[in-house]
Amino acid sequence: MEGPNDKRGGGRRPVGLAVRLSYGTIDELVERFAVNISRGGVFIRTRDPKPVGTPLHLELRLAGGEAAIRGEGVVRWIQAEAPAAHPRRAPGMGIQFTRLDDASRALVERMVELKERRGLAPGVVAPAPIAARPDGTPAPTRAPSPRATPAPAPAQAELAAPHRVEQVAAGPARVELGLPATPQPVARPSRAIVGIDLGTTNSCAAVVKDGRPYVIPSREGHNTVPSIVALNARHRVVVGHLAKAQLLTNPKATVSGAKRLIGRAWDTPVVQEIRAKFPYEIVPGDDGVAAVRLGEETVTLEQISALVLREVRDVAQNHLREEVNRAVITVPAYYNERQRAAVRHAAALAGLQVERILNEPTAAALAYAYGRHLNQRVLVYDLGGGTFDASVLELSDNVYEVVSTGGDTFLGGVDFDNRIVDRLLARWEETTGAPFPGEDRVALSRVVDAAERAKCALSERSEYPVSLPYLALRDGEPVGLEALLTRDELVALAAPLVDRTLDVCREVLLAKGLGTKDIDEVLLVGGQSRMPLVHEKVAAFFGRAPSHAVHPDEAVAIGAALLAHSLGSAEGVVLIDVLPMSIGIGLPGGRVKKIIERNTPLPARKQYGLSTTRDGQTEFELAVFQGESGAAAECEYLGTLRLEGLPPGPRGMVKIAVGFELGAECLLTVTARELNTGREVRAVMSAREGAAAARRKLEQGGGAEAAKAETGNFPAPDPAARLQAAAAAAGGDEDPVPTSTGALGGLLRKLFGRRTEAR
Ligand code: ADP
Ligand code: MG
Repeated sequence: MEGPNDKRGGGRRPVGLAVRLSYGTIDELVERFAVNISRGGVFIRTRDPKPVGTPLHLELRLAGGEAAIRGEGVVRWIQAEAPAAHPRRAPGMGIQFTRLDDASRALVERMVELKERRGLAPGVVAPAPIAARPDGTPAPTRAPSPRATPAPAPAQAELAAPHRVEQVAAGPARVELGLPATPQPVARPSRAIVGIDLGTTNSCAAVVKDGRPYVIPSREGHNTVPSIVALNARHRVVVGHLAKAQLLTNPKATVSGAKRLIGRAWDTPVVQEIRAKFPYEIVPGDDGVAAVRLGEETVTLEQISALVLREVRDVAQNHLREEVNRAVITVPAYYNERQRAAVRHAAALAGLQVERILNEPTAAALAYAYGRHLNQRVLVYDLGGGTFDASVLELSDNVYEVVSTGGDTFLGGVDFDNRIVDRLLARWEETTGAPFPGEDRVALSRVVDAAERAKCALSERSEYPVSLPYLALRDGEPVGLEALLTRDELVALAAPLVDRTLDVCREVLLAKGLGTKDIDEVLLVGGQSRMPLVHEKVAAFFGRAPSHAVHPDEAVAIGAALLAHSLGSAEGVVLIDVLPMSIGIGLPGGRVKKIIERNTPLPARKQYGLSTTRDGQTEFELAVFQGESGAAAECEYLGTLRLEGLPPGPRGMVKIAVGFELGAECLLTVTARELNTGREVRAVMSAREGAAAARRKLEQGGGAEAAKAETGNFPAPDPAARLQAAAAAAGGDEDPVPTSTGALGGLLRKLFGRRTEAR
């Protein structure tokens, strides 16, 4: 230990010191760490203090690694091992601040203010020189800081365990992130099957135990885990609440809303829209699908979702105290085949065997109706954090059939929050006469956080005081934000958003020629549906109060758990879904011909014939798209079917039957059979090529060999006629085997009504 005459290290290089505290959020830090801090400095518990006089680059970080307080300081005193008189006094060092950035200073002010309110410490600690050191050694005889204004003394704390003190290198080292990279095959399937709601905002697991379904509480005692993955300041991957805590302070390295991106090609309009809205970097992955940048690595959305699933799985295992490697996972009803396949892949990366992929509205309906033998038509109104979905289901005994579905992928709780944030920032400008310092991310994150809190509180009460002291410093004076928000104000801000959800409901009903009177019950699902305004507007729109039978946050996971439970029991359920978006094939000129129409009940099957267009042709390709547009550029590219190994023969003589089969869980299988020999031709569904390449080929008219092949049946003199013929061929020559129609639902009901059968 250096003596009191130690020079303050004018020429000494500061040591980088990062202290990781155990608090997950800024609020928790303020609440619990205030005792350690004063305006002048901070006491850090450590058994390995730096010598007195050591100049420091100081960073106090949250548990997730994000910096909360940043600045420079110098070690002023050292607290040795606990003296006998104070057995609870922790060893550590007192650090005097010599410089703090504005945000850090504001945060320190906030903590000191809290401490003062609690009467824990005197207001302003006497300025340096420090009168006496807590360890009893003589005070330094010189003012500690020749350049800074005399700073107050560091606070002292009497707490038990040391803080984690780390010496940091000049720059963050390149560390492998240790992301899940290969599927983990399940060797011994677990007894337990959990239901998992993999949400845009929050994910959650449920299980049925002793006949009772319930949601599994997460580590922090919440019922849900935020679906967020982040890279913290120490270059570690954090998931869930820890990741959420740095959403605004470190937005570039925090991935939220992976659910919107998973299984989508990078160059689709939706992905480009998301790119414009989210601060993290979205890049084209290996195979043309969207991926994200985390630090220096390109990470797939499957990997991101796998991390969330792994977290949920860990939560379940800890709770159940047994291995969990089987799950029923829910997805939005409108998810296409690639998105579903991507979720399966994510689950495999997380070591989960997917027993079923289940549509969210169906899950909510299961939570509502399981075992109740109802005969009803219900509308599931799901307003989550970022998306809105509405689906109509017909329930008849144990058969659950989705008959119509729709939604808005950019309408959810965050939009409500944003309106409150706007209001609070306007209020700031009114009272301070200056715009809010938007570049101060810590301050902004506090406002966003307060807005969401206010919104949720106003679901229960009619007024909520927002109090955010020390948001910024102006002319050396801390400035805060105080506002009393009322429910009426929130209603005025939010009404247009709720009205938009009702427009979607209207469309979803209209698609099936239904009116509001045809709906027996409305089920409200998703956290944002807890807002009373939603209840009121929904009740007015449907002419009936929504059902109170399901919990909005839990229904989806509970439904998944019930389905999981039914798989192993005699009380089977039959789930019938419709195809949410049409499936078609690419034609020359970038067009798409629909093969299976939207809202076709599943399972569905379509078959048609093709023939070759060139002599000796041994292979051709068929690009598959999903969407309602006739233009390939506006549809989601699913993959390319490549038929290889055709027997060489004259053009038009080699005939191929192509079959589209939408089987269990809406997974698409495309098969091809060569008819001359009766031999099955191997068909490879390839997503390798990527959307851009497939589309380019189509637009150049070169890629749609299949369409050309079809023209073999219809010799056409000019390209336009040839295209028409191609379209006719694609739509025409259908399989004599009965395809799926509305009648199939009834048939399935008869077949499986009493059996354990769930798609
Ligand atoms: P997702 O399905 O997108 O994962 P959730 O169903 O978990 O999302 O909904 C999260 C949203 O619900 C958030 O925007 C949150 O603020 C909002 N929310 C949660 N509780 C309430 C409440 N009591 N009142 C209003 N909104 C709420
Ligand atoms: Mg949800």
